[in-house]
Amino acid sequence: MSASRPSLRRVVLLGHPVAHSLSAVFQNAAIAASGIAARYEAVDVAPAAFASMFASMRETDGAGNVTVPHKSAAYAACDVRTAVAERTGAVNTFWVEGGRIVGDNTDVAGVRAVLAAFGETRLNGARIALLGAGGAAAAVLEAVRGDGVSVRLWSRFARGGDALGARFPEMDIAASADLESACDGADVIINATPIGLTGGAIPVDPDRLPSNARVLDLVYRRVGTTPWVAACRAAGIRAEDGLTMLVAQGAAAFRRWFGREPDVQVMWESVQRARDDAA
Ligand code: NAP
Repeated sequence: MSASRPSLRRVVLLGHPVAHSLSAVFQNAAIAASGIAARYEAVDVAPAAFASMFASMRETDGAGNVTVPHKSAAYAACDVRTAVAERTGAVNTFWVEGGRIVGDNTDVAGVRAVLAAFGETRLNGARIALLGAGGAAAAVLEAVRGDGVSVRLWSRFARGGDALGARFPEMDIAASADLESACDGADVIINATPIGLTGGAIPVDPDRLPSNARVLDLVYRRVGTTPWVAACRAAGIRAEDGLTMLVAQGAAAFRRWFGREPDVQVMWESVQRARDDAA
């Protein structure tokens, strides 16, 4: 399923808050580079207003992204979902086809891109420690579903981990009650919580991580990298933040809306400029 609609003039990001988002920066850069007469606009939608705002997309043939905290609500409100969205239970990209809202989850493509940044698109039986049990954690599980990995899943409340694990019954997933023991012996450690989004908190001290582990922090910051990535790199551990994922999920969404390839280099350059300006 994808939309190729030359008539698409407005693409929205629905979230709360959205002011910090870099999506409008790189989507508008790619839209301009493609010569498409559309604008990407971040719209702050409080949870109480989300259902009616999302439903109005049906009448206006809308398209866009959905971000925190609306991804589950968007999943529930779509008329049709891609198989990937169906498995993750979260929608971050939507468009309208024949009067029906179609929901997809391009965060999965984003996670694959971060893994590729480590030089491996498949994990070949790796042991993964996954922190968090929300939409981003579901995208991680979907991204590595076919790779024969074993996952130790830590979330601050057991019910969140249990519910997420139940979505992927074919996978080798064990809940871990303790964060540090979840990371013991892990090959790849992935933060899918908002820890580090603001302030200086880090999920786990790098001294407690296996020295040959690779760390993926799905969090990104407008300026610089995250405290966890900085601390891991200082300790000699290979670590990537969520910027690569952000641009890759956005590029995949662009393909769905416009049915054509975005200029990913232009996307990256605009992100870099915005980050330099904010520094
Ligand atoms: P979500 O659905 O709200 O899930 C967040 C998860 O983190 C939940 O399991 C939540 O637990 C847990 N959590 C929240 N605060 C915590 C804390 N202080 N300590 C420990 N666990 C905590 O959000 P999401 O969509 O999965 O996104 C999670 C993060 O991933 C976002 O903050 C964002 O930074 C990042 N992300 C990045 C990209 C990208 O493109 N780079 C894309 C998507 C997400 P409870 O259920 O108990 O609250």
